[in-house]
Amino acid sequence: APAETDCDVLVIGAGPGGYSAAFRAADLGLRTILIERYASLGGVCLNVGCIPSKALLHAAKVIDEAEFFADHGIQFGKPEINLEKLESWKSSVVGKLTGGLVGLAKQRQVEVVTGAAQFVDDHHVRVATADGERTISFKNGIIAAGSRPIAPPGFDLDHPRIMDSTDALKLEEVPKRMLVVGGGIIGLEMASVYHALGSEITVVELADRLMAGADPDIVKPFRKIIDKRYANIFLNTKVAGLEADDDGVTVKLEGDKAPAEDRFDRVLVSVGRRPNTDGLNIEATGVKLQDNGCIEADEQMRTAVPHLFAIGDLIGQPMLAHKAVHEGKVAAEVAAGEKSAFDARVIPSVAYTDPEVAWVGVTQEQAKAEGMDVDIGNFPWAANGRSLSLGRDEGITKLIFERNTERVIGAGIVGPNAGDLIAEVGLAIEMGADMHDIGLTIHPHPTISETVGMAAEAAAGTLTDLY
Ligand code: FAD
Repeated sequence: APAETDCDVLVIGAGPGGYSAAFRAADLGLRTILIERYASLGGVCLNVGCIPSKALLHAAKVIDEAEFFADHGIQFGKPEINLEKLESWKSSVVGKLTGGLVGLAKQRQVEVVTGAAQFVDDHHVRVATADGERTISFKNGIIAAGSRPIAPPGFDLDHPRIMDSTDALKLEEVPKRMLVVGGGIIGLEMASVYHALGSEITVVELADRLMAGADPDIVKPFRKIIDKRYANIFLNTKVAGLEADDDGVTVKLEGDKAPAEDRFDRVLVSVGRRPNTDGLNIEATGVKLQDNGCIEADEQMRTAVPHLFAIGDLIGQPMLAHKAVHEGKVAAEVAAGEKSAFDARVIPSVAYTDPEVAWVGVTQEQAKAEGMDVDIGNFPWAANGRSLSLGRDEGITKLIFERNTERVIGAGIVGPNAGDLIAEVGLAIEMGADMHDIGLTIHPHPTISETVGMAAEAAAGTLTDLY
C-alpha cells in the first residue's frame, strides 16, 4: 500500500451492501470513503427496487382488500387512481430513506464522493466528480457496484413501451393490456401492482414453473389466485420477438398454449440481472471474474487480491438486499482485522405478491434430489382463525425436518405476510431448533405465526386442533 493513503477503506457503490460496509468500517474506527455514481444513496434497493416496489404493493393490497369487502358488508367506490399522487407518495417514502442515509454517513464521518469510480490499480481509483477528476488511494477496497436488469438480444429497452423494472416503478401510465416477460419474483410483484391499478396482465415464462427455487406446493395457492386475476399465464413459452410502435407492442410467442402473436400496450421485461462489473476497469486489478461476469469472493468476502473485497449482487445469487448487508458487514470487519466470515446457513427469499410466497433453506424437492430423509410438517391456514378473519384461507405453512435429528432445515410459506413469518424459521434453522423446540414455543393467539408452531406439531404428531 502507498505510505499515506486517503482512506483505510474505500467502498464503491452505496447500495445496501456498500452503505452497510462503509458504516461498519467507520464504526470500527476506519477512515472511510463511500463512492456513489448517483446523487441519491441507497442503490437499487432504496431507489428502484425493494422499497418503491413495496410501497406500490401496499397500495395494490389496499385496493384488493377494498374490493374483497364489497361482497362482505363494506362498499367503497371504484378506486380513482391518481398516478401522479401515488408516484409522489412512493417517491416520498424513498426520499425519507435515502435522505436518512446521508445523515447516517455524516454522523459517522464517512466521506461520500459522488461520481463513477474506475480502478487505476490495486490501490487507486479515479472518480469522475462534478468538480473534475479525482484520484483516491486506499488501503482496503470494498467493491459493491451491484447489478442492473438484462434484456434478451433484440428487446429494445429504450422504447417507452418496453420497460424494465426501473421503468415500471415510474408509473407513467396504467396500460390496458400488459405483458410481463419472466415469472420470477420481480416480474410477478410488478404484475400484482399493475393488476391492482387496472391492467389486464399476461405472464410469459420460459421455464415450466413460476418462481423457480420455491417449493411448487407453496406456489400452487398463489397460482390459483392469479389464474383468476390474470388474463393468461403461459409457461414453457418463449418471447421470440418484440416489435414496438407508437400504439403498442406486437409480441411473437413460441409455446404450446400461447398464440403465435399478440399485442399489448406495454411490456415489462424481467428476465434477470447482471453484475455491474464492466464499468469498473477491473482489469487494472488482480480481481478475478467468473464466466457470468460476477466477481469471485471467499467467505471473508476477499477477492483474489486480499485487500480488495466484493459483496452484494455483483458476486452473484441470490441477488437480495439482506444478503448484501450481511456481506458488507463481514467485509468491513475483515478489513478492520477481525476474524469475521459470512457463514449464514440460510438466506430467505420472499415474493411480496398477493399472496406472499416465502421460502428458506432446503425444499422437499432438493432434499429428495440429495437423498436426504426428511419429515414434513404441513399446516393449512384454512384451520387458522386469524387467517380466516382476514378473509383468506389459501395459505400453507410447510416445514421440512431432517429425519434423524428432527431439526428444521427448510420452510415454505404462502399467504398474507408470509415474508414476515419466514423469519422465525430462519432463526430456528440458524439455532439448530428441532420440531419439538418450535412446537413447544408458545405462539400468540390468534396470529398466523401459530401456523409455524402447528406445522412443527403436525410433524411431531402432537397437533391438536385449535382455531
Ligand atoms: P445495488 O443496490 O445495485 O447498489 C450498487 C450501487 O453501486 C448503485 O447505487 C450504483 O449506482 C453504484 N455503482 C455502480 N457502479 C459504480 C461505479 N463505477 N462508481 C460508483 N458507483 C457505482 N431485494 C430484497 O432483498 N428484497 C426485495 O424486496 C427486493 N425487491 C426488489 C425489487 C426490484 C424491482 C429490484 C430491481 C430489486 C429488488 N431486490 C430486492 C434486489 C435488491 O435491490 C438488490 O439485491 C440490492 O440492491 C443489492 O445491493 P448491492 O449493494 O449489492 O447493489
